[in-house]
Amino acid sequence: MDVLRGALRTYAWGSHTAIAEFTGRPSPTPHPEAELWLGAHPGDPARLEGDGGERSLLDTITADPEGQLGAATRERFGDALPFLAKVLAAEEPLSLQAHPSAEQAMEGFAREDRLHIPISAPIRNYRDRSHKPELLVALGPFEALAGFRPVARSIELLRALTVADLDPFVNLLAGQADADGLRALFTTWITAPQADLDVLVPLVLDGAVTYLRSGATEFAREAKTALQLGELYPGDAGVLAALLLNRISLAAGEGIYLPAGNLHAYLHGVGFEVMANSDNVLRGGLTPKHVDVPELLRVLDFTPTDESALRPRSAREGIETVYDTPAPEFAVSLLRLDGADLGHEMDAPSRHDGPQVLLCTEGSVQVHGKSSVLTLDRGAAAWVAADDGPIRLVADQPASLFRATVGI
Ligand SMILES: [Zn+2]
Repeated sequence: MDVLRGALRTYAWGSHTAIAEFTGRPSPTPHPEAELWLGAHPGDPARLEGDGGERSLLDTITADPEGQLGAATRERFGDALPFLAKVLAAEEPLSLQAHPSAEQAMEGFAREDRLHIPISAPIRNYRDRSHKPELLVALGPFEALAGFRPVARSIELLRALTVADLDPFVNLLAGQADADGLRALFTTWITAPQADLDVLVPLVLDGAVTYLRSGATEFAREAKTALQLGELYPGDAGVLAALLLNRISLAAGEGIYLPAGNLHAYLHGVGFEVMANSDNVLRGGLTPKHVDVPELLRVLDFTPTDESALRPRSAREGIETVYDTPAPEFAVSLLRLDGADLGHEMDAPSRHDGPQVLLCTEGSVQVHGKSSVLTLDRGAAAWVAADDGPIRLVADQPASLFRATVGI
């Protein structure tokens, strides 16, 4: 077991304070810090702090896959860590996006290879052959858009904005109030000529202002989000598309699971995110980056979902709360020590005997592996090789620790 030093990624939407404060570094930072990668992704592997200095987690796994990953993980996923864990801090909204299914990723990767599009090219959609299901657990209040809202509710929202120019679109949706209607409306908006969007989007924003000034509260969050997105991305079809998505507010400890084809955008907040080890993103707007509309339409799932369906069920058993997701690549749980647990060595066996990434989010906890021991304070992470588990935990004050491991 070693301290895992995450790879810090700076993106324009990141925060000058959140990750620095979480990991105990001075803030504000000179650059907006967006993600701390706690994994072995070849694009930016985390580093292990050992006695002989730092070394890359990726190199460590490559040199000793059996000891680091264990036989069961190697058999299922080969000699690579199948998941990537991150601390994510969004000061501003991320792009509207969706991720492909496993089948679509295989097919898309092969197709773009045949077209000789370099892996690093900005127009490349598929940078690897993997799907990218993702789970985000909020570390504080977290705001997001995810999944197409049940249609009747979206019609109520669009009508509440009282924008006459929206009427033909609302009627289109009302005439076919299902996934096909959503596909038709989304396709119309995302392929609309810019000149049309430059008229319609400002009218919708005016509608949002009027709605908020009226003192109405039912769709206040949705209207405010439209205004925020419209200010950042004037005339962007994503501002309209966002009106069709569930507007989700998570409290600390609450999670959201995004399966293949789910259209989503993180808006604001800090979270612990775990995903299959992939970079495959199809963007749908609200970004200066490449948007491939036909490919996005191919992967999007327009089936309306209630936001509760996107929240993984979690149940506490002993010290562990497991976030239930169908992803084979990862499993995420929160280990919490409090009350009568304090001062005792508590067993924390994992449902999978593969490797573990730990992240302390509260207090200070001593982690005992089979052959090593480490103390983690808030903001610190650790790598537990497969041959060093199962772990036991000791804390004197209430403490919380996220665990990412391989799915079962
Ligand atoms: Zn995503």
